[in-house]
Amino acid sequence: MSIIEFKNVSKNYNGHPAVKNFSMKINAGERIVILGPSGCGKTTVLRLLAGFISPNSGEIIIDNQIVAAEGKIIKEPEKRNLGMVFQDLALWPHLSVKGNLEFGLKAKGIKKIEREKFIPEMLKLMQMGKFINAKPAELSGGQQQRVALARALILHPEILLMDEPLSSLDQDLNEQLRKEILKLHDKIGFALLYVTHDREEALDIGSRIIVMKNGEIEHQAKLNIQ
Ligand code: ADP
Ligand code: MG
Repeated sequence: MSIIEFKNVSKNYNGHPAVKNFSMKINAGERIVILGPSGCGKTTVLRLLAGFISPNSGEIIIDNQIVAAEGKIIKEPEKRNLGMVFQDLALWPHLSVKGNLEFGLKAKGIKKIEREKFIPEMLKLMQMGKFINAKPAELSGGQQQRVALARALILHPEILLMDEPLSSLDQDLNEQLRKEILKLHDKIGFALLYVTHDREEALDIGSRIIVMKNGEIEHQAKLNIQ
């Protein structure tokens, strides 16, 4: 059964469609990649799902509940159980790695004794244990991405949204982190909605690929290789 559904969703900016009549379903644990060139509407789809913007028409459904429809946000972003690793959602520079991970846990009302347990566990899983007290500026690009991933996954989201998370990394690191994302997916079992303009990345990460062009779905492919 699907956990996410877009039903004929359209979003316009200044009268120009960024996303047109977009429909998709995502099942629990699935790995979906949206592939398409710059400007085709990929980030807009993620922002719609996150609840940062509302659709002009159509409906967005999460766990059988309409969360946005016809220009209205019905469920606020913080009430949707989504994890996000976006290009423009950087780490908080004034907080340590621990502080960055602690923020969401505190907001969820997780007690200190549990936070002190969960944070080192998650950092260990990401091979970032020894950087717990580092500030983001002291970390490399790849390490910062690992912290951003840890910060999202520690909240146990039902689905993780990733917007071209590896595009600024060099090829070796890019491939290494792809493998780690797949490993984490197997281990933790979230659904993944991953956006990229890179075909090879899409084939590597997705169990299903949605190809977008000019705001519309051009093509969908289910891959047998899991
Ligand atoms: P992608 O992520 O695939 O590069 P986007 O979803 O960011 O594409 O953008 C899709 C289209 O919508 C583009 O033409 C872009 O210029 C336009 N767009 C995106 N965000 C805004 C905005 N906040 N205001 C106006 N136009 C926007
Ligand atoms: Mg984008």
